[in-house]
Amino acid sequence: MAGLIERYRDRLPFGPDDPVVSLQEGSTPLVYACHISERVGAQVWLKIEGANPTGSFKDRGMTCAVSAAVREGASAVICASTGNTAASAAAYAARAGLRGAVIVPEGKIATGKLAQALMHGARVIALRGNFDQALELVRELAQRHPIALVNSVNPFRLEGQKTAAFEILEEIGTIDALCIPVGNAGNITAYWKGFQEWEPGGALPQMRGFQAAGAAPLVHGAPVERPETVASAIRIGNPARWEEAIAAMRDSRGGVEAVTDEQILDAYRFLASQEGVFCEPASAASVAGLLAYGAPEGAERIVCVLTGHGLKDPQTALEQAGSVIPCEADLASVERAIYDGS
Ligand SMILES: *Cc1c(COP(=O)(O)O)cnc(C)c1O
Repeated sequence: MAGLIERYRDRLPFGPDDPVVSLQEGSTPLVYACHISERVGAQVWLKIEGANPTGSFKDRGMTCAVSAAVREGASAVICASTGNTAASAAAYAARAGLRGAVIVPEGKIATGKLAQALMHGARVIALRGNFDQALELVRELAQRHPIALVNSVNPFRLEGQKTAAFEILEEIGTIDALCIPVGNAGNITAYWKGFQEWEPGGALPQMRGFQAAGAAPLVHGAPVERPETVASAIRIGNPARWEEAIAAMRDSRGGVEAVTDEQILDAYRFLASQEGVFCEPASAASVAGLLAYGAPEGAERIVCVLTGHGLKDPQTALEQAGSVIPCEADLASVERAIYDGS
């Protein structure tokens, strides 16, 4: 399978001789969700972005951002991250032989993501501050030093991420609505770009963004000073792509709504236990929103984007799941454990 620059090179800002840094990202599964479809009375598919090489959609943008950084002769990449951008940047930097530095909010990053960034050899800096402060700092750093900034303010990130929309259209044709978690709002901006670019004049889906209630600046129309939510990947109070996201939702006749942590965790458990799909909490916001607000009027075909893999955040999973059954090593005890759960 080709990586996404190879697959969509004619729609991306890369020429045939440009260097490509790839881990064969993209081409992720689009899985039909029987139970969710039944609950909302429409056909619903899940775009499983956790199947990317580092376990989140960030790889789509990172293959482009790091390839462009190599083309420009950068020797290092830097990003601010709630976790997945750090994991992805670290992996692609390692792949490219570049130095990587990531700045994460101290104590607010899921275990799996931290393990990835460290294993890939990035310098991981835990900032005594939140994501929005981290982003401000890396923007300033990238202006002062010859380091490529690979946050989603980097235009190559959105170029890569728009390919997920291409894949949906190629696989199932036009859809009526896209449900997607919104943090920094790069991904919703990228999908909208992708849907518009695929076929001029083609039918476009409503873009329905969902934010966590404790981190919902776009819903309130004002930045949130201290964003709080269990969904750490969307714990962002001042989205970098604010205007673009609002424009995408307005122009597509979609909208943005908030979902509570309880609704997010309900959807998170439902996806894992009923659909067999384990995503991280932030990802479940798309499904939580669809279940809470229902299918948009007249929408028959809907895709929910599941942005990252459940293994990213084992701690939240273990808090939300049933407990392990201790058992003696004899047949009767094992039978009792299996059939009675005791
Ligand atoms: C980055 C991320 C998001 C938010 O995407 P934005 O482009 O920042 O809106 C949502 N879910 C997961 C798992 C992420 O890693």
